[in-house]
Amino acid sequence: MGRLPAAGTRGGPGRLRSRGETPLLPPAAACPMDAVGVAAAAPDAGPGPAWQSKCPWGAPSTTSISCSLADVMSEELAKELQLEEENAAFPEVVAAAEGPFITGENIDTSSDLMLAQMLQMEFDREYDAQLRREEKKINGDSKVSISFENYRKVHPYDSDSSEDEVDWQDTRHDPYRADKPTTTPRRGFIGKGKDITTKHDEVVCGRKNTARMENFAPEFQVGDGIGMDLKLSNQVFNALKQHAYSEERRSARLHEKKEHSTAEKAVDPKTRLLLYKMVNSGMLETITGCISTGKESVVFHAYGGNATEDKVIPPECAIKVFKTTLNEFKNRDKYIKDDYRFKDRFSKLNPRKIIRMWAEKEMHNLTRMQNAGIPCPQVVILKKHVLVMSFIGQDQVPAPKLKDVTLSSEDMKKAYYQILNMMQQLYRECNLVHADLSEYNMLWHDGKVWLIDVSQSVEPTHPHGLEFLFRDCRNVSQFFQKGGVAEALNERELFNAVSGLNITADNEVDFQAEIEALEKMNEDHVQNHGKKLSTFSSDGDPPIYDE
Ligand code: ADP
Ligand code: MG
Repeated sequence: MGRLPAAGTRGGPGRLRSRGETPLLPPAAACPMDAVGVAAAAPDAGPGPAWQSKCPWGAPSTTSISCSLADVMSEELAKELQLEEENAAFPEVVAAAEGPFITGENIDTSSDLMLAQMLQMEFDREYDAQLRREEKKINGDSKVSISFENYRKVHPYDSDSSEDEVDWQDTRHDPYRADKPTTTPRRGFIGKGKDITTKHDEVVCGRKNTARMENFAPEFQVGDGIGMDLKLSNQVFNALKQHAYSEERRSARLHEKKEHSTAEKAVDPKTRLLLYKMVNSGMLETITGCISTGKESVVFHAYGGNATEDKVIPPECAIKVFKTTLNEFKNRDKYIKDDYRFKDRFSKLNPRKIIRMWAEKEMHNLTRMQNAGIPCPQVVILKKHVLVMSFIGQDQVPAPKLKDVTLSSEDMKKAYYQILNMMQQLYRECNLVHADLSEYNMLWHDGKVWLIDVSQSVEPTHPHGLEFLFRDCRNVSQFFQKGGVAEALNERELFNAVSGLNITADNEVDFQAEIEALEKMNEDHVQNHGKKLSTFSSDGDPPIYDE
C-alpha cells in the first residue's frame, strides 16, 4: 500500500476535521469529477490546454495513481498513522509502553482485571506526561513556578524507588540521626534571592530551640527532639528552660542538704573532719563502726587512743553524733527552750547551734550524774555536735538495752531497786529528771543498770519537769510490773518516792492535775520573783527504798 504525500500524513480523516486544518481538497460537489481525479489533483499540476482553462481546477494529471480511495478511507491506515504520530509526540510514553506489561511475551491477558489495570496505568502515565508538558509550558522561564505534582496519577511507589533504599552496611551515617540545624550567620539570614531564610524563620527557630535543649542539665530528660524534627516555639522553649533551671537548682539543693546532714549512717564532711581530727590527734585510735542510728543521733564505736596530760581515754569509746537534720529536733524544742540554763541562748541561736546545745546538754547532765556516782557513760570530750564518752559494753559489743535482755527475777528485782535509787539521786543530787527514761535508755552491763541518753534531761523546776518525771515513773513501773517484780510501786507511788512530794490523788487524772498545779505555782513564782524555786518543797526526805 502506497503512502500519501507528506501533507496528507497529518492524520486520518477524523484528524483532519478535528484539528480544523484547511482542507487540501475542495468539497467534492464543487468539481464534478470522479474521486480518482480529485485525489490526483496535485498542487504541482501544470497549466493545461485552453479548453482546460475553463475549469478552474486545471487539467487532470496524467501521473499514475499511487493509492485508491478505499486505501485512504481505510480504518487500518488511519490507525497506523495515528500510532506513528503519537510515537513521535510522546516518545517517553512509548518507551514505557515497551515494558513487560504491554509487549512481554509472558503477559497474561486472560485476566480482565489485569488488563484493566494495565490500561489504567497506561492511561495514568499518559495523563502525567501531559501534565508535565503543561507545567513546563506554563512555567517557562518564570522565577515563580507552579506545580501539578498533586494532580499526578502515578504514585511515587509505582516509580523507581531505588533512591529511597538505605544502605544498611554503611555505618558512617546514621539515617535516623538527624543533622543538627545549621546556625544562622551573624548577618541574620542565609540563602540568596527568593531562597532567603532569616533567623526569625519559624521552622529554623523551632529546630534551633530543640537543639538548644541539649544544653539543659544531663538529668533533665528532653528526649530525641532533633530526631523527631521537633520545632519548639520560643514560648515553649523558654518555659522548658525555666523549668530545667529550677530543677537543676532543686537537685543541687538536695545534694547540698545531703552533704550537710548526718542523715542515716553517713556523716557530713564537717563531722568527718571532726572525727578525723580526733583520730589524727591520737585521742582515738580507730573508729570501728556504727552502733546505732536513731532519729536524733548516730552512735559509733571507737577504740581509745593515747591519754593526754589531763585526760584518761577509756579503751573503748562511744561517739554520739547529733544529727544535723533539724526536723528531728523540732519536737524536742520544749525540752530546751524552757530550760532556764539555755533559755537566754536559745532564742539567739541558729538551728545548727541549737543542735550543738543538745550535745552540750548531754555532756553537762552526764557529768552531773557521774559526780553523783550514777552508772552512766563518762564524758571524754565534746566537739561541736559530737560527744565522745566511754563505751558501755565490751569488744565493740554494746551492752544490751534493758528491753532486750532477759534477766532472772532476782536481777529484775535488783535492777528495779537500783533504778529507783538512781531516779532519787538524779532528782535530789543532780537536780535532774531524765525525761526519756525507759527500758530503751537503760543498758544492762556488769550486773547493773546504766543510764544513757540524757540530752533531753531537765531540772525538776522546768515548766514541764514534773510531767516528764511522771512519765518516766509510768514507764519504769509498767516495765517492772510486767516483768514480774511484785515489789514494783505504781507510777504515782514511784513519783512521790522520787520527788519527795506527797500527791495524794488516787487516780491518774487527778494526780496529773495536781502535778500541773504545782508546775503552775512554780511558773507564777518565776513571774513574781524573777527567779525559779530552788526546789519543790516536800514534806520531808523521800523514803529510801532498798531491796
Ligand atoms: P538516741 O537519742 O538516738 O536514742 P542514745 O544515746 O540512746 O541515742 O544511743 C543510741 C544507742 O546507742 C543506745 O541505745 C545504745 O545501744 C547505744 N549507745 C549509746 N551510748 C552508748 C555508750 N556510751 N556505750 C554503749 N552503747 C551506747
Ligand atoms: Mg535512746
